[in-house]
Amino acid sequence: MYKVRNHRLASGASNVPFVRSPNIGGQFAPRFLVIHYTASGPSFDTAAYFAKPSARVSAHLVVRRDGQVIQCVPFNVVGWHAGVSRWTDRGGNNYVGLNQHAIGIEIENWGPLRRTGSGWVSWTEAVVDPSKVIEAAHKSGGPVRGWETYTEAQVEATLEAARAICDAYGIDEIIGHDDISPGRKSDPGPAWNMNSFKAKVFGRDTNGPPTWTVRSPTGLNIRSGPGMEHPALRPQPLPDGTVVIVHEADGQWRFVSVLNGAGQPDFSGWVHAAFLYES
Ligand SMILES: [Zn+2]
Repeated sequence: MYKVRNHRLASGASNVPFVRSPNIGGQFAPRFLVIHYTASGPSFDTAAYFAKPSARVSAHLVVRRDGQVIQCVPFNVVGWHAGVSRWTDRGGNNYVGLNQHAIGIEIENWGPLRRTGSGWVSWTEAVVDPSKVIEAAHKSGGPVRGWETYTEAQVEATLEAARAICDAYGIDEIIGHDDISPGRKSDPGPAWNMNSFKAKVFGRDTNGPPTWTVRSPTGLNIRSGPGMEHPALRPQPLPDGTVVIVHEADGQWRFVSVLNGAGQPDFSGWVHAAFLYES
């Protein structure tokens, strides 16, 4: 549906509406895609806000409740959406200040909601339809709260835009603002199904085998056989966060395939099961 042409998002022969933001840095080569919510309702024009110099913020795209996509910053120019942030990529490389490395998409959504006698309200006291609210705790912690759901039109439009962007720039990691600024930021929050979204963007079969994630700050050796006596297959251990699928078990050992950024098996070997967690 969408394509990237001259660093603009295009649909067919025409680009999506462009509302230029002055809140930008220099040119860059994007490495990640960061998903945000605006913490605002449908009557607030986020793109117009980003067009004000005094706002001091921007994002590359805004996705409205009805699925309309507005571009505010060309994709090869730094936007101001991430603030203080850091991320370690799948290869173990550290990034600080993700504005310099990531395209940002802002999705129109209230974020956390407060329960009142009659239903749910936003931080501005706007009433939110209870059929559009889920109750959940944020993955970073805190109490169970209400969260406004995203519309199907938003999920679909964001998916199509993300596919075009990831394809155009070779991006293979999509992250939430709450991943790169945990505790400080809670967007896109529990109402955004990031696992399903990433699987769809990268063409993974969502009904495929369950995936497991390596959880070990010092990494995990992948070996030629099921035991410490077997040599490591790679000079470096698998970094924390590596995603694998399990093919067979032998005692405490698992024969796994390591998935690349596109969700495809890259190489296989044996790892100790104690460091694998269901994704
Ligand atoms: Zn954000």
